Amino acid sequence: MIPNHSPWIKQLRRTRPIVSLDKNIETDVVIVGGGIAGVTTAFFALRNTNQNVVLIEADKIAHGATGHNAGQIASYFEKPLSEIVDEFGLDLAIDGQKSVESAWILLDQIIEEAKLRTPLHRFVGRTGLSSLDQVILNLKNNLYRKNGGLEVEAIVIAEEWEEKEKIPSEYRDLYKFLPQKDLLDLLEVKNKDYIACFSYQKGSMNSALFSEELINHMATQHKERFSFYEGSPVKVVRLKEDYGVLEILDHNIKAKRIVLCTNGFEYLKIKNEAGAEIDTKFHHGVAGRVGYMSGYLDSSSNPPMAASYFPKMKISGANDPTGEKYFYLTRRPHEHDGKRYHNLICTGGPEKVLPNGADYSKEAYCSEEVRGVIDGFLKNNYLKHPDKGVRYDFCWHGLMGYTPNGIRRIGSEPCNPVLLYNLGCNGVGILPSIYGGSRISRFLNNEEVEISIFDPHDQRCEI
Ligand SMILES: Cc1cc2nc3c(=O)[nH]c(=O)nc-3n(C[C@H](O)[C@H](O)[C@H](O)COP(=O)(O)OP(=O)(O)OC[C@H]3O[C@@H](n4cnc5c(N)ncnc54)[C@H](O)[C@@H]3O)c2cc1C
Repeated sequence: MIPNHSPWIKQLRRTRPIVSLDKNIETDVVIVGGGIAGVTTAFFALRNTNQNVVLIEADKIAHGATGHNAGQIASYFEKPLSEIVDEFGLDLAIDGQKSVESAWILLDQIIEEAKLRTPLHRFVGRTGLSSLDQVILNLKNNLYRKNGGLEVEAIVIAEEWEEKEKIPSEYRDLYKFLPQKDLLDLLEVKNKDYIACFSYQKGSMNSALFSEELINHMATQHKERFSFYEGSPVKVVRLKEDYGVLEILDHNIKAKRIVLCTNGFEYLKIKNEAGAEIDTKFHHGVAGRVGYMSGYLDSSSNPPMAASYFPKMKISGANDPTGEKYFYLTRRPHEHDGKRYHNLICTGGPEKVLPNGADYSKEAYCSEEVRGVIDGFLKNNYLKHPDKGVRYDFCWHGLMGYTPNGIRRIGSEPCNPVLLYNLGCNGVGILPSIYGGSRISRFLNNEEVEISIFDPHDQRCEI
């Protein structure tokens, strides 16, 4: 039985005692949730407004999905761009994609202004594909990128691939041919199932360490305007006409605006006393999924990389009702137990849907079945000596909130704008959370914010 043991949490080396809410407070803005979404929302609220901000975390800062992810900085959605175009039209879909990509600049801005030291590695990320359908879908997305004025992904296709003639001619300008051997070198695999490789900007960082450093920065730089409390679960959010009250432990926080950065589905009730009921919609609007990862330390000195692999075989143990199943692998330099190991290799892919109403336990052991699935993937794809296998140093899991359309919710609650959201991790959440934090600060400033694919909707309350 192996416990949930994430390398990101281990690197925190936390010594700060938990300070829980021990009094009633009145403030301008209260942010619920201390993952990367809550922490960066607090950063932009402090930076871009002159309001007082309190952040409330049920457990400890960055111990949710932020401390249990793969740490890949990636700008894609967990659904094809073409489906976002179908739902929202080309312009809004492209704006949404640009918004997520703009978070690279916001990330640099945060690091520079807060003088953070959390290592951030940047490189070209790779995606390996193994079927005609996958290739056509990704080419279609790339054509939308091109038509929308976005930088296109670099695509190479194996010269030897028999089905290459079946690619529709409209995509001909969007890819080049390469000997399969070179394509596999790009993907760092031997498995000849892969016949196409897409390349785009990616990165990696420990988002928990980043969040922890950032919260410490805000607590020292904005002492007069910022405070945060851990071990303080919000039980009830009571919304009035122009303020809200949070019930936490035996105390209350009264605030002009409340921002939920809870990832989703969490254990709070929303009582809208100035309009239509919100609670049921909120809980139905985000479903829980558990993602599983394994990691091992490797003394090779290969450079950092991040790749996603869409294999031919089905990922048994994975449970993704919405779309393609894939594995993701990240390699990065890693400090461990005070020693300098060259690399940490993290692999994930398998997910399980949390049945409605079921509780997720951070303390649950790692699943042997899932570990076997990851092991099989590594042996068939990445490992130079598959017969030797791998001794894992870490295995971990984390809970993610998925919205019905796979897109993060960022903006005001239509039935009561006292409440705002920056939530719904939807698998890839680091850049969207950061963009969300910046967008929320514009709502807090009462700016006219342009409509977007991220807006929460509720027909009952929209004119
Ligand atoms: C296995 C896995 C792999 C992933 N890989 C990647 C990746 O490679 N790249 C990427 O971009 N994204 C990835 N993600 C997603 C990414 O980690 C998340 O989108 C991101 O960390 C979300 O941050 P968050 O702040 O929204 O949520 P969280 O980090 O979950 O934070 C939410 C916080 O809210 C707190 N909270 C909830 N309810 C309450 C309450 N009632 N009162 C007070 N506090 C409350 C929770 O305790 C928690 O700390 C992955 C996620 C998982 C699980």
